[in-house]
Amino acid sequence: MIIKPRTRGFICTTAHPKGCEKNVLNQIDYVKSKGEIGTVKRVLVIGSSTGFGLASRITSAFGLNSSTIGVFFEKPPSKGKTASAGWYNTVAFETEAHKEGLYAKSINGDAFSNEIKEKTIQLIKKDLGQIDLLVYSLASPVRTHPVTGVRHRSTLKPIGDAYANKTVDFHTGEVETINIEPCTQEEIDNTVAVMGGEDWEMWINALKEENLLAPNFKTVAYSYIGPKLTKAVYRNGTIGKAKDHLEKTAFTISDALKDVNGEAYVSVNKALVTQSSSAIPVIPLYISLLYKVMKEKGLQEGCIEQIYRLFSERLFLDKVPTDSEGRIRIDDWEMRADVQEEVAKLWEQVTTETLPSIGDLNGYKTEFFNLFGFHYDDVDYNLETEEVLDIPGLQKTS
Ligand code: NAD
Repeated sequence: MIIKPRTRGFICTTAHPKGCEKNVLNQIDYVKSKGEIGTVKRVLVIGSSTGFGLASRITSAFGLNSSTIGVFFEKPPSKGKTASAGWYNTVAFETEAHKEGLYAKSINGDAFSNEIKEKTIQLIKKDLGQIDLLVYSLASPVRTHPVTGVRHRSTLKPIGDAYANKTVDFHTGEVETINIEPCTQEEIDNTVAVMGGEDWEMWINALKEENLLAPNFKTVAYSYIGPKLTKAVYRNGTIGKAKDHLEKTAFTISDALKDVNGEAYVSVNKALVTQSSSAIPVIPLYISLLYKVMKEKGLQEGCIEQIYRLFSERLFLDKVPTDSEGRIRIDDWEMRADVQEEVAKLWEQVTTETLPSIGDLNGYKTEFFNLFGFHYDDVDYNLETEEVLDIPGLQKTS
């Protein structure tokens, strides 16, 4: 079929297999150009099909020579209907990994469920024996709790006071004021249930019970802090409470890993255009200004540069460098004082009229469409493209 982007709000409902392949190949090329980091034999990535999780799987395979199992929740294709981008990303990733003789298998389903955990456990037992690294990179708006059956929905709201600030509709470039009413306690609890650390800990406990964690096992989950101007809606808001919980969970997990000499970390990553971040109010405008400043200073990084730096300069050092709260920081360039001062100045000036010159709205838009395989110069979008592609190592789920 001829595949064009079809957007609804901050999502694109179509994806292009060739463009997604391009996205994955670019990331693999980046890792290969930087060189091998070392060897970590067996890696499980939860949320491995897009964003930071995909970059983690690619860096593991092509930078650490790892066998990888990826777990994700993506829509398969059918005749006349494209798959979601993460499906095509995984097709491209597995194809390249297999070409190089690397083990790569995938499980598509709800990672919060007991069924998908059990499926993953069986696959590890059968094929890998144990795992050396688990990357937890889920971003989801909902979670059905596997014990209570309650379906929790996360919200992005301030706590205590209403919040008003600028935001942009990145499709039209219109900058307007957004007003967000404060949340209820129930909304905080629900957001923590979805994006906090409980499910991460459940994965670790389930794997540990089956003796699937190798000696010196490591696990890492991803967090965000961000600047003062998004604080009320991000770090001090409902999602921030979930991140607090995730960060605390790293200590609980580390304690539970003592007998395998294991360690759990949270890495605070940089703000980037991903399917999840484009849904957060205010953040796309902040990112448009941040990208402009970071590009001018030669500091700009995407998911793959961030994760390569995390793996090569932080996570596998004998002594892992952390901040006073025990977190790894690869948001260090975003949070540099000179970067933040410039972004804050631009924030004061930004309007619909000034954004095209003082911000990088085009960069934002291009990256947004790239997430779905569109807007790549060297992909011909007028060509007939096969939309029904199989993931070679996809495991059957009921
Ligand atoms: P993303 O939307 O690109 O990726 C989310 C992944 O989770 C996908 O692989 C998706 O298939 C998977 N997923 C979602 N629900 C699932 C489910 N129920 N079962 C199985 N898989 C499921 O998101 P991202 O931006 O890469 O975020 C990953 C982590 O990084 C999150 O914890 C996020 O808070 C954090 N982070 C993001 C940013 C940013 O700016 N994007 C910055 C710092 C930290």
